[in-house]
Amino acid sequence: MSQRVPNSVKLLVGTRALFRCEYCQMLESDSFLPFEIDHIVSQKHGGGNELENLAYACPHCNQYKGTDLTTFLSSYKDIVAIFNPREQAWADHFYMENGEIIAKSRVAEATIKLLRLNEPERLIIRRILSENRG
Ligand SMILES: [Zn+2]
Repeated sequence: MSQRVPNSVKLLVGTRALFRCEYCQMLESDSFLPFEIDHIVSQKHGGGNELENLAYACPHCNQYKGTDLTTFLSSYKDIVAIFNPREQAWADHFYMENGEIIAKSRVAEATIKLLRLNEPERLIIRRILSENRG
């Protein structure tokens, strides 16, 4: 969820993330739209503007995540927390194969589902980018 943070904080968070979306790994320089600051725990849930609660996110990931912290997998009772880029390492939970983001954990499954990381348009863009990089 995007809440207002000062530009200086945005620059810090972007630099820390190497200007990649911390959820789908897209580079901001490959995006037509500017990236946003995600509040990992949204203000609605009591989250603040501290650096440890902020993540760099593309507009797609930020919009689909909204204020959510969890989703369900196999049934409505199977609630799973989504990936937290401040507490977890991306490579421990995901890997990328031919542009597709693949889950290595239930956390990743939940994140791929909620943030729609592999929706067709995003997959196509990732495949084109990875082909152009060899
Ligand atoms: Zn993203």
